[in-house]
Amino acid sequence: MRVLVVEDEPGVAAFIEQGLTEAGYAVDRARDGEEGLDYALAADYDLLVLDIMLPRKSGLHLLKELRAGGNETPVLLLTARDAVEDKIKGLDAGADDYLVKPFAFSELLARLRALLRRPPLQNGTILLVSDLEMNSATRQVTRAGLPLELTPREYALLEYLMRHANQVLTRTQIAEHVWNFNFAGDTNVVDVYIGYLRRKIDGEGALPLIHTIRGVGYQLGAEHSGA
Ligand code: CA
Repeated sequence: MRVLVVEDEPGVAAFIEQGLTEAGYAVDRARDGEEGLDYALAADYDLLVLDIMLPRKSGLHLLKELRAGGNETPVLLLTARDAVEDKIKGLDAGADDYLVKPFAFSELLARLRALLRRPPLQNGTILLVSDLEMNSATRQVTRAGLPLELTPREYALLEYLMRHANQVLTRTQIAEHVWNFNFAGDTNVVDVYIGYLRRKIDGEGALPLIHTIRGVGYQLGAEHSGA
């Protein structure tokens, strides 16, 4: 899942970026409201973490412009302590949740997980595709009840596929959601990681769940489009 963090305080931004990266998210950072809006419009993010007090354009202003343009990416606002007025304005402007600074990182992670559970994404903390199960709270993955050891990048890739189960996803879509802007644009890396995942998930004798859709990309599910 790919997250944009719009935060002007370098220490706070670095803290959030590091923690989210360690938790397996692909993270981009913007330092002010203008840059944040540019980023949010340039890429298809799964989540936005948005500070309210920002130079050049406030978080509220950014949010209003984003929503006015039809963008429905879930937004978690970061507000200063006791700024009740900001929270109300933020929710009215289309924010999905807010967190008061300073916050515990575990709470930020829990709130982001909650936002990811909302439709149209697959519902719930437990993601299930056939006998493949992912617990997005404990980050445990099992196939037919047997635990799978995944690297953080493999996990991130699988989470994206599971949250979009039975959809045909292009290599570019996958790359954009699992890697950040530092991603060089070579979608071969997607094929390489799909290969790693396949070896772990679709072992010998197991019903294949990862399907190659020729000329397009990939699809996760018990059945596939065969396009
Ligand atoms: Ca700020």
